[in-house]
Amino acid sequence: RCLDPNGATVQQISVCVRKRPMSRKEENSKNLDIITVPSADSLIVHELRLKVDLTKFLEHHKFRFDYTFDEECSNALVYNHTARPLIKTMFEGGNATCFAYGQTGSGKTHTMGGEFFGKVQDCGTGIYAMAARDVFEEVSRPEYQKMGAKITCSFFEIYGTKVFDLLLPNKPMLRVLEDARQQVVVVGLTEMPVTKVEDVLRLIEHGSKERTSGQTSANAKSSRSHAVFQIALHMPDSWGPYGKCSFVDLAGNERGADTQSADRQTRIEGADINKSLLALKECIRALSRQSSHLPFRGSKLTQVLRDSFVGGKKNKTCMIAMISPSMSCVENTLNTLRYADRVK
Ligand code: ADP
Ligand code: MG
Repeated sequence: RCLDPNGATVQQISVCVRKRPMSRKEENSKNLDIITVPSADSLIVHELRLKVDLTKFLEHHKFRFDYTFDEECSNALVYNHTARPLIKTMFEGGNATCFAYGQTGSGKTHTMGGEFFGKVQDCGTGIYAMAARDVFEEVSRPEYQKMGAKITCSFFEIYGTKVFDLLLPNKPMLRVLEDARQQVVVVGLTEMPVTKVEDVLRLIEHGSKERTSGQTSANAKSSRSHAVFQIALHMPDSWGPYGKCSFVDLAGNERGADTQSADRQTRIEGADINKSLLALKECIRALSRQSSHLPFRGSKLTQVLRDSFVGGKKNKTCMIAMISPSMSCVENTLNTLRYADRVK
């Protein structure tokens, strides 16, 4: 099966994997690329193992997903096969959600937020921006203009059980409330009106800076938090948005928090992240099985994304699992692939 540059057909839940290229550092340290992508829906991890007598052998772990992307694939190609087919959902009154999952350094922010040139990120090349472009193209059609449709954006971060608004200076903390009908509200979350792609780019740039500001390394604390970017469609005189697209740059799923070397804070963070990623898996599974039991209270992440998992067939979800190619990451890579394998 070959990748069609125009993208994919819509499925309620799709799970894809993207392999990033070897970094200069990995190549210089003579690290090996142990991932092959033999077709557009399969992927093999070639793990070097030792027998009891210490002779080496290769174990080949083969996986199948809806789509697999090798290191040659661009953000645009990934977008066309993952988030793009979901944009329509929002105009049909549903909620579309796209997750970037994987260990720190595997390419989640590159895919969602845009390519990096050194430390500078080109926000125009990420899934957030590409989605915004398609949303504006759709909403500019006469039927939506006649109805008075409006678009807003929100951008927030979930760190442990705390939620921070990335569109306000110094990212203030927000409260999350649940009313008697189980509607979840992030109180005071900025819903910024936007009328063109440039508006959205400015918000993404601002929010991405807030997310990493005050950190010694760009990946220090941001890798321990989930970032949620939302585009919502509003119709006049209706309570709440008509439909919504959410894009989630998840916290790094690497283990290490449970190792002895980790300090107390890192262990707590690791436990929180684990809990939220497990709750996420359960919620997506509940959606795929049309189950009436939705364990969304299992974490702050699933609680604030509750709308993504209820509402049955109208809602669509896509997960992009990101993996690093190098031998030194094999354990995290296999963990990521096994998680992705069990989501559906
Ligand atoms: P994460 O958000 O998962 O921690 P990043 O998106 O920050 O990872 O990516 C880590 C590094 O790898 C960055 O320098 C980024 O530019 C690079 N990178 C990630 N994915 C790709 C890709 N598909 N092509 C080229 N470089 C990439
Ligand atoms: Mg990141």
